[in-house]
Amino acid sequence: MATDNTEAKLDSRAPSGPVETSWERHKRDARLVSPANKRKFTIIVVGTGLAGGSAAASLAELGYNVVNLCIQDSPRRAHSVAAQGGINAAKNYPNDGDSVFRLFYDTVKGGDFRAREANVYRLAQESVNIIDQCVAQGVPFAREYGGMLANRSFGGAQVSRTFYARGQTGQQLLLGAYGSLMRQVHAGGVKMFPRREMLDLVVIDGRARGVVCRNLVTGALERYAGDAVLLCTGGYSTVFFLSTNAVNSNATAAWRCYKRGAYFANPCFTQIHPTCIPRVGEQQSKLTLMSESLRNDGRVWVPKAAGDKRLPGQIAESERDYFLERMYPAFGNLVPRDIASRAAKLVCDEGRGVGSGLAVYLDFSDAVKRLGKETIADRYGNLFEMYREITNHDPYETPMQIYPAPHYTMGGLWVDYNLMSTIPGLHVLGEANFSDHGANRLGASALMQGLCDGYFVIPHTLGHYLAGGGLVSVSTDHAAFAEAETRVKEQVGKLLAIGGRKSVREFHYQLGTLLWDRVGMARNATGLRGAIEKIRAMRDEFWNNVRVPGSGEDFNKELEMAGRVADYFELGELMCRDALEREESCGCHFREEYRTEEGECKRDDERFSFVSAWEYAGRTGDARLHREPLEFDTVHLATRQYK
Ligand SMILES: Cc1cc2nc3c(=O)[nH]c(=O)nc-3n(C[C@H](O)[C@H](O)[C@H](O)COP(=O)(O)OP(=O)(O)OC[C@H]3O[C@@H](n4cnc5c(N)ncnc54)[C@H](O)[C@@H]3O)c2cc1C
Repeated sequence: MATDNTEAKLDSRAPSGPVETSWERHKRDARLVSPANKRKFTIIVVGTGLAGGSAAASLAELGYNVVNLCIQDSPRRAHSVAAQGGINAAKNYPNDGDSVFRLFYDTVKGGDFRAREANVYRLAQESVNIIDQCVAQGVPFAREYGGMLANRSFGGAQVSRTFYARGQTGQQLLLGAYGSLMRQVHAGGVKMFPRREMLDLVVIDGRARGVVCRNLVTGALERYAGDAVLLCTGGYSTVFFLSTNAVNSNATAAWRCYKRGAYFANPCFTQIHPTCIPRVGEQQSKLTLMSESLRNDGRVWVPKAAGDKRLPGQIAESERDYFLERMYPAFGNLVPRDIASRAAKLVCDEGRGVGSGLAVYLDFSDAVKRLGKETIADRYGNLFEMYREITNHDPYETPMQIYPAPHYTMGGLWVDYNLMSTIPGLHVLGEANFSDHGANRLGASALMQGLCDGYFVIPHTLGHYLAGGGLVSVSTDHAAFAEAETRVKEQVGKLLAIGGRKSVREFHYQLGTLLWDRVGMARNATGLRGAIEKIRAMRDEFWNNVRVPGSGEDFNKELEMAGRVADYFELGELMCRDALEREESCGCHFREEYRTEEGECKRDDERFSFVSAWEYAGRTGDARLHREPLEFDTVHLATRQYK
């Protein structure tokens, strides 16, 4: 396998020198586009979630022409709307010892030392500005009696730094960004194109200069040209079929960019969230998350005895195992997600799972006794209501049942410190990039990163790129647009022509189940090798036996899904290859062969302190691995310890 860490393409462009001042120095040295010249540039922003919405609004406010596309009927239906628990910021309002450095430290450690220090420091620095920006937009964060913004704790931190709006933080933040976006739509700075799916990237003279989309209502293929493309298309947990992500979340835009030359980084790092409502059967298309914030007041337990099927109320305190409190006394129920997920798997594997056997209790009875029902309702009311509607059980009366599920993808397109991919002009923001979280994301960090990228990073770094010059004028008549459109048309035609016997959903289910088994909460070399073989066979069958009804000339949900599942087959194989290559355990990547005597992750910093960045080379099996070495000058490498 070819490896290379020296080539210019993988230059992180992270400033050298003290990390505390690197972002200021970087901004000081950045080239600027003069106000009068900004309107001469057109920026294509794909996605309207927190990353895309904030970027499109900010760039239009600066004076750029922005073209903004999304799959949904309305930009404010992006998946970000579903985020529940909160957003981190190092404001230290509770005076419990928080600081920019501590947020930086927790994030690097939480990510098991597989993130770039300079990016994480910048994220922690800008976190305080994000809160100010959102408050100014009118985001209704929870407040204390005296009017200060309230905070709660999240996993992996010993301070309270998570700002929230009940259990609907994502929705409120998105409404803030959406308000700014609509202001610009009204002012003419943003042209909005909903119901469009980007199916290819157009690269001219080595630079990203446009996209080809399918109009999801009419089926028409459309071309959009610009001076830069911002990919803000979210994560790909739906590769596992069942996940907490919206059904429309997908990898297609990122994957098609990968095939045009953008490197794909750390594809095997998937965050499994410990507190999801367990699956109930095969007809489900999505799982529902119960926010991590619930672990502030909810206690996680299972019966001490395997096979104990009594109702929770019949199991005496002395017969319960509050396993997180027992195993990790320092952090208790607030250990990071990867640790809590693996612990839940462990007790279920021991035969102590409740309900179907694949669930543990999240119990609020102590908190209700201590704080009263009203306080609990104030903090988590809508989450309790959601749980009751889905399961028909009232969490005020009986413990919730929860189990881990795929939730967030730390992998994504590789970007440098300027958020630019290996294709000049293609910038990647939010969950779509491989970003700042390393091998594991601490809760309440994704909203922070998406908004940091959109409101505070890209306005500077994009200007630097554009002011560098060398951009000739291109129009959608350019041959590269015709070539990309033909490629998309051929794939759509091919999918419709197969006329096989198996539905897209069946293939997706089969692939997702395999990936969950082999590259989900735990992996090993034999399982991964076997999975690669199986995925290849499934992919062959897909291209010979999938049934996509209807035509390409109108609204056709099956056709949309078929294109995405076709990409998942290729991505799934790369996830397995990446996991196989990394012969260590770190964060969410738990290779069963590499564990400590206590069963915890065993990192190998000597050999694997790098970001893996995969280059497309014709077929997935031929992808070339490049390594971006990671250096830890400020936070010294240490074993993660939450006991
Ligand atoms: C249930 C749930 C709860 C969560 N809670 C929290 C939380 O409390 N705190 C936290 O920090 N994080 C949370 N997260 C994670 C966080 O919500 C996401 O990581 C974040 O919202 C992603 O934002 P984004 O802008 O990158 O992408 P998204 O919000 O997913 O937006 C993607 C956009 O891209 C568009 N798009 C995608 N593909 C294409 C294409 N091919 N063509 C055109 N458009 C395309 C979509 O239409 C959409 O507009 C949660 C996630 C889930 C699933």
